[in-house]
Amino acid sequence: MAKNDDSSERPEHPETEVVHLGRKPFEQHGFVNTPVYRGSTVLFPTLDAIKKRTQEFTYGRRATPTTQALEEAIAHLEGGVKTVLTSSGLAAISTAVLAFAESGDHILIPDNVYQPSRTFADKMLKKLGVETTYYDPLVGADIAKLFRPNTKLVLVEAPGSQTFEMPDIPAIAAAAKAKNIWVLADNTWATPLFCKPLSLGADVSIEAATKYIVGHADAMMGSVTGNARAAKFLDNAKETLGTCPGSEETYLALRGLRTLAVRLDRHQSSGIAIAEWLAGRPEVDRVLHPALPGDSGHALWKRDFTGASGLFAAVLKPAPEKSLAAFLDGLKLFGMGYSWGGYESLVIPFDPTSYRTATRWHGPGPALRFHIGLEAVEDLIHDLDEGFARLKAAR
Ligand SMILES: *Cc1c(COP(=O)(O)O)cnc(C)c1O
Repeated sequence: MAKNDDSSERPEHPETEVVHLGRKPFEQHGFVNTPVYRGSTVLFPTLDAIKKRTQEFTYGRRATPTTQALEEAIAHLEGGVKTVLTSSGLAAISTAVLAFAESGDHILIPDNVYQPSRTFADKMLKKLGVETTYYDPLVGADIAKLFRPNTKLVLVEAPGSQTFEMPDIPAIAAAAKAKNIWVLADNTWATPLFCKPLSLGADVSIEAATKYIVGHADAMMGSVTGNARAAKFLDNAKETLGTCPGSEETYLALRGLRTLAVRLDRHQSSGIAIAEWLAGRPEVDRVLHPALPGDSGHALWKRDFTGASGLFAAVLKPAPEKSLAAFLDGLKLFGMGYSWGGYESLVIPFDPTSYRTATRWHGPGPALRFHIGLEAVEDLIHDLDEGFARLKAAR
């Protein structure tokens, strides 16, 4: 468990932390949950109060008791000193990058980054005069060879989106630290329960809370958590950019957080079971899941993570489009759609050749990203098994 400000206390287990963090029942008449505070205006009782601005809450965009509860909980889980909330995971990434990068800077982004992060760099950062180099996520300490005098930050994502290569965060962070370069980690896959990037040397940990923290596919939310060095930059970026989450969304994220540990446990075990089943199928070329012992990222995952989520990919052997359509279109339990981290299972096809620039992707067949939900493994396998029968029949 990460240390927080009251490190004199015995560290609690993550299962316990997610239940109790950010809750102050006796400040709310004993009610268990922090209520939804809706609001823009906050009243100051006196002229003196408005001049000094010393009261805890001053304006809805800055903070409410609801957002404060979630920020405190996430900051503690990440082992950081400051969390700012944003309206989405992508807004968390843009807010975090804009907290540090300025015109004339150079930044490094992994080639397997979440695609909209790439679009943000290619469209918005470029326009602002920030240059991006995409790097091979397996670069390790050799990241130093890509540093320039004006390199301001390195983004890492572990494992990377869609193809799940596992970067060596401590090696990248150590190289960056030696040159005073900020390290920002997109930690959405693992959540702060299974990986704590700040303890691996990153300065900032970013979560698309939309995924596992919200956990029910019913809200958008992002969080950015910084260490002591990064905190004031994040605060300043949040203030000046004006990003803030909605009150209902914040409540839903707090509610999701309470069951995060128990849900993740199930996503992990079911995900591994189905990944192993897929790896044994004749229609599958390979499975990309760092928790599988044969995976190229397994050793790093074991060293740096305490668990795996339910998101991974499988690359099929060559199959014509109509076979793939027969497989996907007839699935009864797996939905096809973006995002993940909810209670339901999902599958989506993807093609890394369409956007990669620093690395080569080898098929040989279509690639599928799976999110394993909370359904029974046997039912999910039955659904996929029928899908493979349709795939074969449609050839
Ligand atoms: C989904 C996702 C995001 C963006 O989150 P949104 O809330 O959808 O904006 C960022 N990073 C990763 C790795 C994601 O999977």
